[in-house]
Amino acid sequence: MDHDVKIYDFFNSTLKKYLQKMRLRNSDSRDQLLRFLCLDRNGLNPHFEAEEIYHELKKQDYKISRASVFRNLTLFTNARILRKSKFGENHFHYELCNDQSFFHHHLICKNCGKVIEFNSTQIKKHATKAAKMNNFSHIEYRFEIFGICKNCIEEK
Ligand SMILES: [Zn+2]
Ligand SMILES: [Zn+2]
Repeated sequence: MDHDVKIYDFFNSTLKKYLQKMRLRNSDSRDQLLRFLCLDRNGLNPHFEAEEIYHELKKQDYKISRASVFRNLTLFTNARILRKSKFGENHFHYELCNDQSFFHHHLICKNCGKVIEFNSTQIKKHATKAAKMNNFSHIEYRFEIFGICKNCIEEK
């Protein structure tokens, strides 16, 4: 099976389970947005902004309102289909994320905005330990490092 189709099937079943759990109805705009994110995103930045996705949807003639894009990005975040991060700016970046890839971390270039992802079992260990000591469950943690990337240093 095509890789993207597999991803779509996975997130589609995540969405359906979430909607059922929350007693929410299925909606056409939700389905369209998920299809777009998994199968049709073209050159969209993997860490995209809400405005970017709305712009791209419009360009591709999707009939989804701005309000519904924003509402469904929040719903997808709650369903853990998307992960929402702030990279030192006022707006959020979203990315497709399942349970396994949920806890990755970011290095962000303060100059060009380039984002590099990394994993760390050390961070996981510390976060889990701190949570356990304070009786926290259902934890989320994220680690963001800001700096200047190699390209930007060389261009100066
Ligand atoms: Zn840079
Ligand atoms: Zn990421």
